[in-house]
Amino acid sequence: MQNAEAVNILSDRISALAESQTIAMAKKGRELAAQGYDVINLSFGEPDFQTPQYIKDAAKQAIDDGFTFYTPVPGYPELRQAIVDKLKRDNNLDYKPENIVVSTGAKQSIANVVMCLVNPGDEVIIFSPYWVSYEEIVKLAEGVPVQVQGRLENDFKVTPEQLESAITSNTKLVMYSSPSNPTGSVLDEDELLALARVLEKHPQVYVMADEIYEYINFEGKHASMAAFDFIKDRVITVNGFSKGYAMTGWRVGYIAANKEIASACDKMQSQITSGTCSIAQKAAYAALQGGKASAEEMTAAYLRRRDLVLGLMQDIPGLKTNVPTGAFYIFPDVSSYFGKSYNGQTIENAYDLCMFLLTDAHIASVSGEAFGAPQCIRFSYATSDEKLVEAFSRIKSSLAKLQ
Ligand code: PMP
Ligand code: GLU
Repeated sequence: MQNAEAVNILSDRISALAESQTIAMAKKGRELAAQGYDVINLSFGEPDFQTPQYIKDAAKQAIDDGFTFYTPVPGYPELRQAIVDKLKRDNNLDYKPENIVVSTGAKQSIANVVMCLVNPGDEVIIFSPYWVSYEEIVKLAEGVPVQVQGRLENDFKVTPEQLESAITSNTKLVMYSSPSNPTGSVLDEDELLALARVLEKHPQVYVMADEIYEYINFEGKHASMAAFDFIKDRVITVNGFSKGYAMTGWRVGYIAANKEIASACDKMQSQITSGTCSIAQKAAYAALQGGKASAEEMTAAYLRRRDLVLGLMQDIPGLKTNVPTGAFYIFPDVSSYFGKSYNGQTIENAYDLCMFLLTDAHIASVSGEAFGAPQCIRFSYATSDEKLVEAFSRIKSSLAKLQ
């Protein structure tokens, strides 16, 4: 008989899944803080702002009004309509409520889309550097992730030529975020059009356009792949409330897609989570009624912090970076520190450097490996100016110790 302890009770599926590194590093930072260290957490990507008061008030009202029951799986009709109106107002996109599926966060929307489109063996092109969860979700669906690497010198943007040469007859889906997590780069309308023209020639390929950072755009001109009529039917736009409205904990995201894909995502959710929280949906509805004013205020703060961080980083030798034009991350190439040592410890890679910064400077960051760029590390600058000044001063002192 087999020793019970030796048997792996967990499925191959979960055993093969990597832990989310953004969440893992944030956890490490919190653990160190709990031991009494003064940790500055630049690892987790979430707004440091409170959800605007008018949104909180709507949630309280929803409780008092008795919205405590199960919700329709794809979302309350008035929320889906409000999303349709938002897509028209902000993005000049024409959809009907039947094209919208509200979910428990953009992360769930992405998982729905991949699960609904990707068969085992299908290739999924992921613009790299990419957000941590894309690759793992694709693997969960038994798809084959194909990373196409944007270069720092090109603001980490994938070119049409690169896209063209990555497409094969097995390609099913292309995934990207713009504004991008982790690089902060933003694809403008011309760049998206050039990429869409490549995809026009490959009618079997769909696109998952993750626009969760739409409102955090320092140039102010967000462009959507779905705006090009010739490809609109093959684009699934993912968006949500976590970033623009500082509503990470409320868990509301959505897709806009053709009816077949939207119905498939609805069916997927119906078996896995059902409709998202009634109160959070009422809050999301209120958020949209308030327009972009609160998002604009927060974005002004992120822009100021971006400039602050770029200035602070100029004083630190060996950090090479693009200038982010959206989101709230900076993603320097740190490879000039590889091979250097301190106290007998050699920095072999970005993960070692992250751990060194955590233990020596008490700064939590995330290694670029998790984003498909092993020469970089990611700092989130969604925190106060004071903390950023202190954090980069500590980073500078710690890096100076490496010889
Ligand atoms: N896409 C990107 C690029 C993100 O950074 C995040 C943040 N976690 C998500 C999707 C998921 O957002 P949500 O909180 O709505 O699940
Ligand atoms: N989007 C955030 C990040 O990249 C939140 C963490 C997560 O959901 O992975 O850090």
